[in-house]
Order: sequence, then C-alpha cells, then structure tokens
Amino acid sequence: MIPVTKTFLPPIDEYLALVNRAYGNHWLTNRGELVKELEAKLVDYLKVSKITITNNGTVPLQIALKLLGNNGEIITTPFSYVATTAAIVWENCTPVFVDIHPDFLTIDESKIEAAITSKTTAILATHVFGNPCNVDAIASIAQKHNLKVIYDAAHSFGVSFNGKSIFEFGDVSTCSFHATKLFHTAEGGAMFCKDPELQHKLYYSHNFGHNGPLAFYGLGINGKISELQAAMGLAVFPYINHIIARRKEIVELYERFLIGSNFQLLKIRPNTEWNYSYYPVIFSSERELLQIISELNAKQIFPRRYFYPSLNTIPFSNGAPMQISESIASRILCLPLYTDLAKEDVIQICNTLLRKS
Ligand SMILES: *Cc1c(COP(=O)(O)O)cnc(C)c1O
Repeated sequence: MIPVTKTFLPPIDEYLALVNRAYGNHWLTNRGELVKELEAKLVDYLKVSKITITNNGTVPLQIALKLLGNNGEIITTPFSYVATTAAIVWENCTPVFVDIHPDFLTIDESKIEAAITSKTTAILATHVFGNPCNVDAIASIAQKHNLKVIYDAAHSFGVSFNGKSIFEFGDVSTCSFHATKLFHTAEGGAMFCKDPELQHKLYYSHNFGHNGPLAFYGLGINGKISELQAAMGLAVFPYINHIIARRKEIVELYERFLIGSNFQLLKIRPNTEWNYSYYPVIFSSERELLQIISELNAKQIFPRRYFYPSLNTIPFSNGAPMQISESIASRILCLPLYTDLAKEDVIQICNTLLRKS
C-alpha cells in the first residue's frame, strides 16, 4: 500500500534516549528542558529571531486571531486546510474570501483591496504547499489600510523567500509540526513574531497568561507542548536535511515524467527556496481526476484530494463563490511523497497518470 504520506520515524532508541531524559528530570510539560532545547535548535536552523513551540498548528492561529482579529472581518484564502477558516470562525471573526492565483495557488493579492471594508482587521493567508504568498504586495496593502497580517505557514518548514525565512514575514506566522508535516513532533506547532511586544503577548497567551506562578500578564489559554512531544521533535531534528533532500529527489523524479505533460503542476514563486513538502497535480477535469484516482487505488496507491473542498463552500463559512479556487479544488490531487518512497513506485504512479501502463 502506498499512502499519500508516511510519517518519518527516527530510530526508536534515539527517541527513547530523549524520553529517558524527561523521565530522569521527572518533568513532562510546562516548558521543560527538552522544549527549550528544541526551540534553540529550531531558531538556529530556521534562522528566525524567535519561536514559541505550541501544542499544534491550529491554536497559534487562534491566539493570533484573538490578539489581532478584534472580532472583525478577516480577508482569507478559500484554498487551504479547514483549520485556517475554522480558526477565524471559532474566534468570532468573519472570513471574507478572496480568490487564488491560478498558478501559485496562494491568495490573489490583486483582489484583496476590493474585499476590504471598514470592518476588516486582518489578512490571514496560507503559503500553500510551502509556496509563499506575494508577501511584499500583501505587506504594502496591509500598511496602506492599517491591517494586520497573519500567515498560516503550516506547510512551510525550512522555506525561505528572498534569502529570508518565510516565518519572518507578516505580523505573526504559524507552523504545524503534525505527524503528516515535513518536520514533526507527532502533534505540535509554532508561532513566530519579530515584534518583541506582540511576541510577548503571544507567548503568555499560550501559557494561561502567567507572569510567574502567582501573577498574570493577561488572558491566556493552554497552547503548551509536552516534553514527550519535544522528545520526538529532537529525535527527528538531526534527520531534517536528509528528509528534505529525499523529498527533493522524489519531486525531481516526478518532474522528469510530468513536466511537459498535459497536467498543470504547481508553479513556485520566483526567489523561493522551497521545501518539497507536497507534490500536487491538477487535471483538466474532475472526471479525469476521479478516473485516475480509481486506477491508482486499484494498484494500492492512495493519493489525496488536497485541498478539497474549497473552503468558501463549507457549511459554516458563508462564503461567496470563488471560481478559481473551486475549480482547482475539484481537479487537484497530491501524489505520494515521503522519504522512503521507492523510485519504482514513483515511476508506476507517473505511468498510470500518463496512461503508459
Ligand atoms: C496541518 C495544517 C494546519 C493545522 O495544523 P495542526 O497541527 O494539525 O493543528 C493548519 N493549516 C494548514 C494549511 C495545515 O496544512
């Protein structure tokens, strides 16, 4: 069976050695030494000014929206995982969708200004499949209209744009360390912020607002990650370059077969150092997509329709029609991509797509 993705598991003795440290410390959560060590390693690796690791990649979106959304209208993309829209609605803000660019699949910055009203407080956009949004254009729009910018960078571990970590863009950037993501802690995530004052608010918000054991800076919630999850992150960390390099090899193999075919492939924004996090293929029709899925399934290959459906169409989002996003969502398929995916399997997948076997 070939799934769309397979969690990278470090050698179990390496993981258990780290779990043993948590046991030795008799300390399982509340930002113990393993969490702090993982944060230090990630700041260094990602070349970011600051990181706060969290319990998943959704809570940091909620915290950012709580602090910056002000119960207003949030301009957002319909082409993302449901967490992006759900966090907006959950935090009592209103999603206002703006359609996506047909090649980059990120929010179409040229359509943002038309969606701004007096109630707009922020823009929440996703770097889809690790492909950066047009961050410079979005920054100018936000500055002109006095809006905050939050990036759902759940897919963007290790991505840089114009030589800078993608997490350094926007007022707040978030990431997911879920087991299906490129770097993982089983469940986990992070938030990034360059402004020390806002960073401090984000930080205490994820720890019940605590200012030491007996006092409080303000309102907070529980967004803390445990030592056991940090142990998994520390065990995966030494393999991160290997993980990215293997994915690059597989993506290049897919490209060898599929570039020049009739399928539309993801266009990466220029000046991006990408992380090879997903390999989406866009078919000419939903019918063709469903046909290919059933042929792959017959060979025990299980790609995933991702993202589907377009988020403006889900029951709680009250979205206006989004022509491009709905069209892409109905035709896009993410092909299997993980470190130990065999070359022969990639070839078999491509041959099926190209109707060569
Ligand atoms: C995975 C994902 C999330 C949510 O992350 P969790 O760690 O599962 O909470 C949010 N947004 C996008 C785009 C994602 O892919």
